[in-house]
Amino acid sequence: MDQETIKILQKVGSIAAQVRREGASKLAKPGTSFLEVMDYCEQRILNLGGQIAWAQMAVNDAAAHYCPAEDDSSASKEGDIIKIDIGVHQDGWLADNGMTVVVGKSEYNDLLKATQNALKAAIKLVRPGVQLWELGEAQASEAETLGYKTVRNLSGHTIEPYVVHAGISIPAYNNKDKTELQEGWQIAIEPFVTNGVGLIKEKGIPTVFMVEKERGVRSPYARNILQQVKAQKTLPFTLKWLTRKMGKGATALGLRELQQLDVVRSYPPLVEVSGGLVSQFEHSMIVKDKPIVYTRHEEDEW
Ligand code: MN
Ligand code: MN
Repeated sequence: MDQETIKILQKVGSIAAQVRREGASKLAKPGTSFLEVMDYCEQRILNLGGQIAWAQMAVNDAAAHYCPAEDDSSASKEGDIIKIDIGVHQDGWLADNGMTVVVGKSEYNDLLKATQNALKAAIKLVRPGVQLWELGEAQASEAETLGYKTVRNLSGHTIEPYVVHAGISIPAYNNKDKTELQEGWQIAIEPFVTNGVGLIKEKGIPTVFMVEKERGVRSPYARNILQQVKAQKTLPFTLKWLTRKMGKGATALGLRELQQLDVVRSYPPLVEVSGGLVSQFEHSMIVKDKPIVYTRHEEDEW
């Protein structure tokens, strides 16, 4: 990876880290509107000079893929465990990072600690030649030390321009995958740690979508949607962006057609199957003998 690209990643990484921390500290206060915070994060990415890849969150037993719709009045409550996941890019060069906060007092501070430890332990091992199972084992073992489990069917991933999950999964447990990290790979490591059984499933109404394959479409609603989200290319888009421009009815009709044609895929919220609480921490990095963790904020202790 050349110096210029590394500079771009460091720039989008520092924006992603800053917005993640600002969003997290807002969410940590009881009574904060989720929609307002996600809107704030999107605007903040732009103001800091980045392009929006996504601003998402998830609460308690949900692990990921929740982005409040324009009429969603949910707000943070004392004791909630809230994840925020921010993606920033420049011409497709991506930073992906996440963190978790507890609202007010919680007996689950050590759940967050276990997740931070898992991420730290995996990052410590990152270098060319390390095998994926080793990164998974390190994460699972840190979670177990504090009495928790990593979610086995969620994983980190390689990243490529405009592609968040670029094909290789970085497990959060020992899945025996002997694939070796290569110098210059762009990867995200993101343990999800839970007091449940350690599995998630899709549940609920999707607000996150992605264009899967380009194809001509007839209906004006579907066409309008593709026009609205064109700049995202293969990055996600969210429901409120569409409903605010097109209205709810036209958006629903267009999205239904696009999904029937397999042009657009929905990503419903991911929820822990046993109702366990879920915590997540995530950093993006470039694989080197000393990896460049480009989403680290100076106040991050992980
Ligand atoms: Mn993420
Ligand atoms: Mn990720």
